[in-house]
Amino acid sequence: MAKDRFGRNIHYLRISLTDRCNLRCVYCMPEDMTFRPNAELMQDDEILTLTRLFANLGIDKIRLTGGEPTLRKNVVEIVRGISETEGIKSVSMTTNGLLLSRLAQPLADAGLERVNISIDTLEPEKFKRLTRWGKVNEVLEGINAAEDAGLTPVKLNAVIVTGYNESDVVPLAGLTQEHPWQVRFIEMMPFAGATEFQLTQTVTAAQVQKEVEDAYGTLEVVNNGKLDGEARLFKIKDGIGDVGFISSVTSPFCASCTRARLTADGILRMCLLREKEIDLLTPLRAGASMEELRELILEAVWMKPWGHGLADGTIPLNRTMSEIGG
Ligand code: SAM
Ligand code: SF4
Repeated sequence: MAKDRFGRNIHYLRISLTDRCNLRCVYCMPEDMTFRPNAELMQDDEILTLTRLFANLGIDKIRLTGGEPTLRKNVVEIVRGISETEGIKSVSMTTNGLLLSRLAQPLADAGLERVNISIDTLEPEKFKRLTRWGKVNEVLEGINAAEDAGLTPVKLNAVIVTGYNESDVVPLAGLTQEHPWQVRFIEMMPFAGATEFQLTQTVTAAQVQKEVEDAYGTLEVVNNGKLDGEARLFKIKDGIGDVGFISSVTSPFCASCTRARLTADGILRMCLLREKEIDLLTPLRAGASMEELRELILEAVWMKPWGHGLADGTIPLNRTMSEIGG
């Protein structure tokens, strides 16, 4: 297991399969976003080579993300290759769900274990405004397809944005009364591309939790308050699913962070919210040996930043969220 200098075991890698997306969520990227040419992105065999290397170093958990990972050509084959890699125990995906009605079953058959699906509102007009052109019904169909394919427990991600979907907190949390889903409210974080918007339209986890409790009563703590990944989990009384809060901005979980990120263009990023990057694709293409790449990764892991610097006003401005991989 690769350890950083603070003793954290880094065993979880998020791999971005593409920076492209079929939506343009207002809190994620500008409408006129330009994407990287395909040749600059890791090719399928390069993803699998790097996965093997990371697995050798103790990475056992992979989440595929993007951009929108389901847009990646050969996504099913990539999932199969990763899930068959020795040492990888779990492969999951974060997706906007739009293509899951078609892809959920093939992805599950290829070894995908679970999905997190992003849905910030249940109302078609608001969804369109938040995503700039999405149809919420397609996401709901995707959620059903994921359940039918056994990609469970389904986790739903919602970012609450001032002036867009504050009134959706209560209905979204209410889904857990009837479905065994985990509805997770994520605090909006600042990056390049929409920084001013992200800094001014934030709704904190505490504000969201208050709204949920005003509507449904005091929430019951789940797991004795132990974090599930990055989420603090609760239940609405008699609910069958969980409500989670991811307070990366107001109450960061950096001390227990065990993850690293590999961007679609093959850059290793040890903290979502720090600009420091280690290029793995260029040396791989230049013929570096596995031992040389291994050394690069171990050094990067060792130097993983203790935590982000949002509290001091340090904002990562070299990439949008979609270019890093959320
Ligand atoms: N396209 C996929 C999706 O939307 O689920 C995967 C990539 S997206 C970048 C991953 C997650 O990041 C989504 O749940 C999205 O809501 C969240 N996200 C995007 N921009 C964010 C921001 N500025 N702050 C917090 N979360 C953000
Ligand atoms: Fe696309 Fe996901 Fe970003 Fe929305 S949050 S624009 S779906 S990458």
